[in-house]
Amino acid sequence: MNDSEYREINEKLDQLSKTVEELQKQVIQQNEALMHFARVENASKVTLQKDETDRRLGKKPHVCRICGAKGDFETFLVREMMQNTREEFEYFECEECHSLQISDVPENLGDYYGENYYSYAMKEDPDRKYNTPVNNTDKILDVGCGTGVWLVNMADNGYGNLFGCDPFIDHDIHYGDRVHIRKCTIHEMEGEGTFDRVRMSDSFEHMTDPEEALKSAAKLIKDDGVIEMGIPTYPNVAFELFGPHWYQIDAPRHITLHSRKSIEYLADKAGLEVAAYQYNSNCAQMLRSFFYEHGVPFNDITSELVSRFFDQKNIEEFTAKSTECNEKGYGDHMNVILRKKSK
Ligand SMILES: [Zn+2]
Repeated sequence: MNDSEYREINEKLDQLSKTVEELQKQVIQQNEALMHFARVENASKVTLQKDETDRRLGKKPHVCRICGAKGDFETFLVREMMQNTREEFEYFECEECHSLQISDVPENLGDYYGENYYSYAMKEDPDRKYNTPVNNTDKILDVGCGTGVWLVNMADNGYGNLFGCDPFIDHDIHYGDRVHIRKCTIHEMEGEGTFDRVRMSDSFEHMTDPEEALKSAAKLIKDDGVIEMGIPTYPNVAFELFGPHWYQIDAPRHITLHSRKSIEYLADKAGLEVAAYQYNSNCAQMLRSFFYEHGVPFNDITSELVSRFFDQKNIEEFTAKSTECNEKGYGDHMNVILRKKSK
């Protein structure tokens, strides 16, 4: 390897680690926002009732939608807790790729994304003006962007070439001349080979066609572009502790809880490879799963409720445990950076 090749590789590594840092910051911000999603008035009224249902259904015959493996796989019964319908859905773990997936995708999946679903929170603003001049023209696509909260935040910080797509929004949305969001799937996005970054933040696990989605993302990026994915991942410590009450199963919205093996399997099929994994789970994996196990729905888990049952020392222990698990690759959430396979 000559000097200039060496420098080039080092620069790329440097860039990647910056991307990872940025993603970490975003996840921390998002988690803080969720923890403060406070409905103060409810906290004192919530009562806990531990679920005693036998949710481990044993081995049942399944076919893995990711890797195609067939067999009798461990099957679990999971409650819907975000909308608090308490409907039950079967999930199984593929013995080959170790992803956890819903047995049958509901036909009315759209019904489980109500108007209050948390990514759909912003009003469109086609005349929006930005105070910061454009200082970054990287072309970025946010897949499953909702109404574009993250994109607008990036635009406020000087990014000027931002796109989003989400099939579940009502119509196309524009925020001034910097953010353009289309009501469509990733397969319908234009601009093959033109994107520097394609971002999928907690959206890949919602997709019923992850292999096709990754292939479409691979087509959209430049040869040196990256795909950044933030996803809940399995197996992990929260499932070990709380089983089917692990809150990130989020039945039935999360179709697949990916393992590293299932991600690598799909990446390979799309001509991609994993450049980095970055585990970033935090104490929410224990706290939220504990409350799910005790029958408290998503929106009732407030910081007030948490402080009724856990003191600062408990939280510090959960946080330390999460950090330790992240280091071992056993936390419940990670960022994955994908790039085109080196030829
Ligand atoms: Zn599989």
